[in-house]
Amino acid sequence: MKSQRKIMMIYTGGTIGMVKDFSTGTLKTFDFEKLVEHIPELHHLGCSIDSISFKKPIDSSNMNTEHWKSIALSIETHYEAYDGFVILHGSDTMSYTASALSFMLENLGKPVIFTGSQLPIGDLRTDAKENLITSVQLAAMHHKGIPVISEVGLYFEYKLYRANRTTKINAEHFEAFTSMNYPALAESGVHLKVYEEYLLPFSKDAFSVHTALDRRVVILKIFPGMHPSVVKGILELPDLKGIVLETFGAGNAPTESWLLEALQEAINRGIHIVNVTQCSGGSVLMGRYETSDALLKMPLINGRDITTEAAITKLMYLLGQGLEDSKFKSSFETPIRGEMA
Ligand code: ASP
Repeated sequence: MKSQRKIMMIYTGGTIGMVKDFSTGTLKTFDFEKLVEHIPELHHLGCSIDSISFKKPIDSSNMNTEHWKSIALSIETHYEAYDGFVILHGSDTMSYTASALSFMLENLGKPVIFTGSQLPIGDLRTDAKENLITSVQLAAMHHKGIPVISEVGLYFEYKLYRANRTTKINAEHFEAFTSMNYPALAESGVHLKVYEEYLLPFSKDAFSVHTALDRRVVILKIFPGMHPSVVKGILELPDLKGIVLETFGAGNAPTESWLLEALQEAINRGIHIVNVTQCSGGSVLMGRYETSDALLKMPLINGRDITTEAAITKLMYLLGQGLEDSKFKSSFETPIRGEMA
């Protein structure tokens, strides 16, 4: 007889884990030990589910790198014993956590699916049940003994995305996430359809977890009318190691000399600056316009079509690896988990 797939669910916090007390109207945290009791549908999925929870579940606005490490280490601890992992997380910073995890988990050979919801699991019109049930199904999918998905995904409102390609785009709609520069990996309709051509290939190399992350980084969004002293104040921060520079359109910035000089000066001091676009879709193409020519020559690191969430977490991860300065630019520009073209 085919053995049951074993799924580990990790509850970190967020709306999904709340139930409404209908007598008082208040939301309270759900007891995850009793998960299957509350969602009897989970019995019909043909897999066994164990769940663990953060000691103190948090709103995802309070997520930090220590929490990311704790999720990564939980996956490492239970890696051999389980076929797949479902991480329940608040939607607000889910794309950051899921992007970070995609870098921290090297040669992942099992599915790690992030999900959450816009309405609490106990709400009558909740989106939590479908998100959770389908995430478990995706995490349990196998073909000839090999997991169908062997990467970090984010499932929300009928679509599975590559996690490090996602951004939260809506605070109200059930369709809260998008992946503008990479197609969905799977879609749930009458059938649960997986688009295998878009998945990362299964890795046979040894799985390893990296927890060293360097937080001395910043996201700097360019806007018309920036004041030199403010921008210089950031670029000259003594501990700063890396910057994600959100530029206009295809990677363009003002050509005012104070800005170009301050950026060049920062690069000369060994600060790694990644050029990403503040548009939700499309790619940086330095040198296309005069307004990005100087950035190309500095040179800034080309973030191409990477999301800001993936760029900042990749920066933390690569800085944590202690790479030689001369190798940093080419390492960043090389896709490592399908995060960029
Ligand atoms: N503020 C909540 C959080 O991100 C929203 C959610 O759960 O979706 O934790």
